[in-house]
Amino acid sequence: MNKIISKNKKLLIVLGAYLTLCASLVILLRNPSDSLIQVLFEATVSYNQSLDYFEEDGLYILTTGTGAPMPDKMRAGPQTIVVAGKQVLAFDAGPGSTLKQELSPVDVGAVDALFVTHFHSDHIGGMGELMLKRWGNGSPEQPLPIYGPAGIEAVVNGFESAYAFDKGYRIAHHGEEVMPPMGFGGVANTFDLGSDLMSSETIYKNGDVEVIAFNVAHAPVFPAVGYRVNYKSRSAVITGDTKYTESLIHHSKNADVLVSEALNMKFSKMLAVAGEDTETNISAIATDILDYHISPKEAAVVAREADVQQLVITHILPPCPQI
Ligand SMILES: [Zn+2]
Ligand SMILES: [Zn+2]
Repeated sequence: MNKIISKNKKLLIVLGAYLTLCASLVILLRNPSDSLIQVLFEATVSYNQSLDYFEEDGLYILTTGTGAPMPDKMRAGPQTIVVAGKQVLAFDAGPGSTLKQELSPVDVGAVDALFVTHFHSDHIGGMGELMLKRWGNGSPEQPLPIYGPAGIEAVVNGFESAYAFDKGYRIAHHGEEVMPPMGFGGVANTFDLGSDLMSSETIYKNGDVEVIAFNVAHAPVFPAVGYRVNYKSRSAVITGDTKYTESLIHHSKNADVLVSEALNMKFSKMLAVAGEDTETNISAIATDILDYHISPKEAAVVAREADVQQLVITHILPPCPQI
């Protein structure tokens, strides 16, 4: 008798749970276009980008673009963000990198300056978006300071021209308080390191933060530079695009972190062979790029020779399958 009661009880509990589940699904799916999505959206919507995320004073590095010109489902075009104390410095602005930054803890509106290594499209394609999003998110009174070698002014002016219509739309729609006209665009700060491959210069100094630009070897692209950021007792080096060169070792000496581009020579040659039978230029391009990039192994040699503490490989060429 007791067994029958216990069995019935279990059955009732299971039935009750089943009916509750059905009722929940009916409520959620009553209007699937908004109720289910709305529940999920409400559970995830939040906006909490703040420099307070980096509680301890220090030098932080975010890779917001680790790809290169070839399409890579997982990677945006090259960009490294360095947070030095309360200053946010962006290095290069590859296509899609601003969207990646918006997914990071560092708000685009907080970017204090942009440093450009050279003018290959994969390093500047996102510059317009960065200038616009910084303006929209941060309501700055001043345009974004942009540092780069000779040619940077033409590039900045070009992006400003391309975004001129959008500037007008944004001011008209959101008002001058949200989009102060003076804060639109960028201000180019040009430096000239000359042609000596070993030359360098401090091109930015603000409080405890110092940025040194140095020449790298990316011929026929000239000028092309790398950057070293010094903050209190910490330092980070961003190579830009370069083949192996003594300049890299010299300017990376005792750095805490070296963020180096890298091209896998073996994979690139495989790509060149695979592309031979196609109608595209992929074979020629995969062959040409072999002579002006550094390999991961060579980057490791630079790190070892310069007594660098940590090596970060970025600008992955060619795109590799994710595992
Ligand atoms: Zn590149
Ligand atoms: Zn390049």
